[in-house]
Amino acid sequence: MPDTHSEDATPRSRIRRLPDALVERIAAGEVVERPASVVRELLDNALDAGARTVRVEMRDGGLRLLRVSDDGYGIPPEELAIAIAPHTSNKVSTLDDLTHIRTLGFRGEALASIAAVADLEIASASDDSGLAEVVTTGPDASENRSTTARARGTTVAVRNLFGTVPARRAVLRGPRGEAARTHAVVRAYALAHPHVRFTLVGDGLLLLQTPGSDLPSAVTAVYGADAGKALLPIGPVTEGSASLVGIVVSRALSFAGRDHVVLVVNGRPIANRALTAAVEAGYRPLLRKGRHPLLVVHLAVPPERVDPNVHPAKADVLLRDESSIAAALRTAVHTALGAAPLSLGQETVAGLRERPIQLRLPAARSRYTTIAERASRRYAAAPQSAPDAPEEIGSLIAIGHFDNVLILARSSYGSLYLVDQHRAHERGLYEQLKRRAAALRVASPERDAFTITDVALPVDAIPHSHQLLLEPVLVELTPLQAARLSYRTEELAALGLDCQPFGGSVFLVRSLPGLTGAAHSPAGFAAELAAAAAEDADDWLDHLCVSLACRAAIRRGQPLAPPQQQQLLDDLMPLSARSACPHGSPLLVRLSRSYLARTFEW
Ligand code: ADP
Ligand code: MG
Repeated sequence: MPDTHSEDATPRSRIRRLPDALVERIAAGEVVERPASVVRELLDNALDAGARTVRVEMRDGGLRLLRVSDDGYGIPPEELAIAIAPHTSNKVSTLDDLTHIRTLGFRGEALASIAAVADLEIASASDDSGLAEVVTTGPDASENRSTTARARGTTVAVRNLFGTVPARRAVLRGPRGEAARTHAVVRAYALAHPHVRFTLVGDGLLLLQTPGSDLPSAVTAVYGADAGKALLPIGPVTEGSASLVGIVVSRALSFAGRDHVVLVVNGRPIANRALTAAVEAGYRPLLRKGRHPLLVVHLAVPPERVDPNVHPAKADVLLRDESSIAAALRTAVHTALGAAPLSLGQETVAGLRERPIQLRLPAARSRYTTIAERASRRYAAAPQSAPDAPEEIGSLIAIGHFDNVLILARSSYGSLYLVDQHRAHERGLYEQLKRRAAALRVASPERDAFTITDVALPVDAIPHSHQLLLEPVLVELTPLQAARLSYRTEELAALGLDCQPFGGSVFLVRSLPGLTGAAHSPAGFAAELAAAAAEDADDWLDHLCVSLACRAAIRRGQPLAPPQQQQLLDDLMPLSARSACPHGSPLLVRLSRSYLARTFEW
């Protein structure tokens, strides 16, 4: 787990003015845009100072007050004045330092930028005397000093943000919207630094508190015990000089937005396009359309291979080995989420709580609710019985068939499984099709956007079957579709779909993919496939594999002899994404021993 500020980090250096050459190299841009950007900078500072406990307090979403207290190494009194001056830092001092940044801060601008648009008060003690030096400043650049009692550490209070710049305030969302953003930043940091104890209080309400131990505990503290019991480990995986590790909550709990997908690079929660896309490509085939998981991934990369100096708010980084890391990320996420079946008793999580209730911001009048009241409300909303933790499946033995729809199976761990025969077959066919297409991709590497996430088979182990049509079928497309299809005929041939231009926007289909149980009406099927293959989307090939697999898979209602039932299970088990069909619907449902015992009151 990345930890850029551990106790064995180099001892604290003095704060100095950065040389001009370095200042020029620092990505320009607005450091302070809204309360969420202020809290981000203050958290960076607290963590850089080695804090183990961080407390954040906001009023009116941080517009009225944002206060961050830490137990870090503090700022000596004689350095306080320089800390608030522009371009001063104790973290970098030479140009060379910028090439391997180990701290979250490195620009020396945050405190000065905040003081330019808000009232700033810093109270800091850098020793155990129990006395802290206090400095206050603000947009008028005045400076007042005092002292106060305080243990080692720093408290930074930012009041009346943009009070003197009404135009800047006008573009903000108002207290509730800003509170949600600020909350999201603190939550992301708490998940990025699970060994640090985080507390967030908003308008007097305790919004978040983590124990400061490990990632599962932090996730449990933030999202509740149900989520905590449904955690699936991601990795650890090593990819070149990078390593990644994380958690994803089982498919029983999903969200309509991406807010709970947290990517952390060297301790910094970031929004990187390529990595986000990779994570999404990993989970998307396993969740229903438009749903997103609760997921946290920590990436540790050698500092010289990552450049955080590319974004004014430090919200993105440039990674040297981005594409290989992205590919590893995608596979790791897919494997973690895809292997776990849906457990009965777990689905209540999704049913009862669309969103974790701690995340709901208090209504204006609930300012007066006490923390205890709030906690009891939370408790009341929790499901009566705890969901089962995910388990290994082991192997499955078919023990019966229900209405020619579900295979009943017993796992080697003693759980009862229900397996949807259509979806199980569909998943296997889909993986097989993807391997065929991927084998072709190896042959022509310039073809993009299609990588397989399952275990790769040797190319010659992949059956190349197709079904020749007695009568070739003519398919007419729109000119745009035709243009796209004409670039894709090679991939289609690899799947067994022989589709050639026949003049104008007409195509001649000579063969169809030869899959078990395929096409009853070849002409209709050919037309449907050609249209699907001409789809205007980067992942058209994936979509095509999904619809091919769906068409070809054993239907629900089809009788299966016991050996066929067992064969379906045996084919399913080696797949990494065996718990969901390619559309993202569940295909395996587990009734654990403990679930049965609870239900029957054994
Ligand atoms: P940067 O973090 O890029 O160095 P900042 O403007 O954020 O620049 O902070 C200036 C300096 O003030 C930091 O380099 C650090 O030495 C000191 N500082 C700020 N906040 C804290 C804190 N919470 N604990 C200890 N030192 C701090
Ligand atoms: Mg800083």
